[in-house]
Amino acid sequence: MTNQILVVGSVAFDSITTPFGKADNTLGGSATYFSLASSLFAPTSIVGVVGNDFRDFDIYRKHRIDISGMEKQKGETFYWAGRYHYDLNTRDTLKLKLGVFKNFQPKLSELHKQSKFVFLANIQPHLQLQVLKQIKRPKLVGLDTATEWINQTKPALLKVLKLVDVVVINDGEARELSKENNLIKASRVILKMMGGQKNDILIIKQGEHGLLLFHHSLSLRVHPKQSNKPRRLPRPSDAFRARNDTGIFNLPGYPLENVIDPTGAGDSFAGGLMGYLAKTNDLSPANLKKACAEASTVASFSVENFGTKRLQSIRLSDVNQRLAEYKKLINF
Ligand code: AMP
Repeated sequence: MTNQILVVGSVAFDSITTPFGKADNTLGGSATYFSLASSLFAPTSIVGVVGNDFRDFDIYRKHRIDISGMEKQKGETFYWAGRYHYDLNTRDTLKLKLGVFKNFQPKLSELHKQSKFVFLANIQPHLQLQVLKQIKRPKLVGLDTATEWINQTKPALLKVLKLVDVVVINDGEARELSKENNLIKASRVILKMMGGQKNDILIIKQGEHGLLLFHHSLSLRVHPKQSNKPRRLPRPSDAFRARNDTGIFNLPGYPLENVIDPTGAGDSFAGGLMGYLAKTNDLSPANLKKACAEASTVASFSVENFGTKRLQSIRLSDVNQRLAEYKKLINF
């Protein structure tokens, strides 16, 4: 199918502590959040592994997520425990147990190899690479990662980065990966790590503050080098064009009063983004911006309850309704 999405990532049990509450051993994992979000827009298949302690298959089936590529192995399901700081934008990983992911060797079915939209969600980079090597002719490949992999397996991560079209990471990870504090400078370093192809796309998420979208072909003009040649004074329309031509696009977060648990917001964003792009099959810059707005809206639901609870309860009509409010908020 032309808009089939394939995601490889963690399927997990999470123990989450926020300043306002706690949830133990709740269903999570990057592939879980991603697929619940992307399946709102396009058919999605998961490649991953769970232990024999895993029982939640029906949740995926209910959302028509294809789990034929989710292997069941003897051992424990991936486990992650994290604690959020008071601002809910930063967190510490308290425990990460790979469990059955330690020896996982993904082997794709013939059908999965034909997927056109592929997302390498947060998991060990060598697994992302193994999946990518088996894909036949993808139209768009996206990637997410985490501080753990940037610190522990950077050479493998740098290898995968070269092979993808879209990178979706958060601001902290962008700083960590690029060793640049400023996000515009960080974007240049990361786009270079991606190989500097003209159509590469980088999205840096900034939690409740929204996101920055960078498009490589134009981003070199973010801050044009000052030359000594006399220049004509810019007209107002030039100023507008200069901003747009930079390839930077900025969206605020949807303002929410009740944020319960930010876990999975990034994966839900990525799912919404890839889902919308697969559904529309349009990679133009204008549609990329729309996809970012759709994705931010999906992610805003995800944080309204612990774990995947809220994401499991929404339909596309809920997303559309909130998107209309979001549009009004940012329109001037
Ligand atoms: P996010 O908040 O978008 O980073 O997603 C959090 C989800 O990703 C949780 O459900 C975790 O189980 C999972 N997760 C956290 N750290 C990792 C990691 N290093 N590798 C893979 N999955 C992870």
